[in-house]
Amino acid sequence: MKPKIAILATGGTIAGTIDSAIATTGYKAGALNIEVLLDAVPQIKEFATIIGYQISNIDSSSMSNEIQLNLAKKINKLLIEDEIDGVVVTHGTDTMEESAYFLNLTVKSDKPVVLTGAMRPATSMSADGPKNLYNAVALATNEKSKNKGVMIVMNDRILSARTATKTHTLNLDAFFSPDFGDLGYILDGKVYFYNTIEKLHTKNTPFNIDNLENLPKVDILYSYSDDGSGIAAKALFDNGTQGLVIAGSGSGNIHQNQKNILKDLMKKNLIVAVSSRIQAGQVVLSKEDEDLGFICAQDLNPQKARILLMLSLTKNNNSKKIQEYFKIY
Ligand code: ASP
Repeated sequence: MKPKIAILATGGTIAGTIDSAIATTGYKAGALNIEVLLDAVPQIKEFATIIGYQISNIDSSSMSNEIQLNLAKKINKLLIEDEIDGVVVTHGTDTMEESAYFLNLTVKSDKPVVLTGAMRPATSMSADGPKNLYNAVALATNEKSKNKGVMIVMNDRILSARTATKTHTLNLDAFFSPDFGDLGYILDGKVYFYNTIEKLHTKNTPFNIDNLENLPKVDILYSYSDDGSGIAAKALFDNGTQGLVIAGSGSGNIHQNQKNILKDLMKKNLIVAVSSRIQAGQVVLSKEDEDLGFICAQDLNPQKARILLMLSLTKNNNSKKIQEYFKIY
């Protein structure tokens, strides 16, 4: 019997259209529905039985906690069913890494979950969506894909949701895992794994979202010379932000102006995680910053640190305990 794969569509360029085969910009993302996406890749039906769901149809630059929660809940429901062998999510590439990491921490199954998308709209003369979708289903039906955490497939590369990030605004080869590398490769529909990521995921995290209607409010602030973003930090805190991720300079440094304001806000229970605006490498905090309660985001980029901080705050708001989550997940 063929494996049964659920494909959940959320929008993005893979479902994007424009009235020119040459145009790869200026299109409308999230214009086509799931049936049209599937019709473009009839070859999938030769090796998998597909059941499609439309979760949303948006440009993923406008992704929300609400859609991510719905997506995770739906995947958890589907994967409990015996007959569903794996899930593929079609998603815009802008925030794919955020949704992928969110699912990596909240899906409670070791069955494969794979995100894919496209850099060129479906109407392009060399659209990449159909091959990416084919590869994603090939990966989701592969026996070796179990218990690997959530994966991203783009441009034949297999990447871990924990480490993948978008590194090019327009090129087809837009996703990399700085410092960690790809998990594997797909060649002519055949899956080759050659790497593993040790961080815990899916069933091995304490984050259970099935009964949650919303998530704690966490925002990101960037560090830069002559930084005045401490004022923004204060405004966000006054508006209900519970956690901040700082995209620090270098190995996680914060401008003194901003740090002074953050220190005051932390006394009022604001939780602050320090990441870096640099794409590769670890954040290192001084003993003094650790003692003040700043959380080291390790090698997580700011947008992923935000995801983990939101989920951490669903469990507790103790910076020492949250620091442990950042070491493990
Ligand atoms: N802006 C688009 C989106 O994220 C880009 C893409 O999908 O490639 O929905």
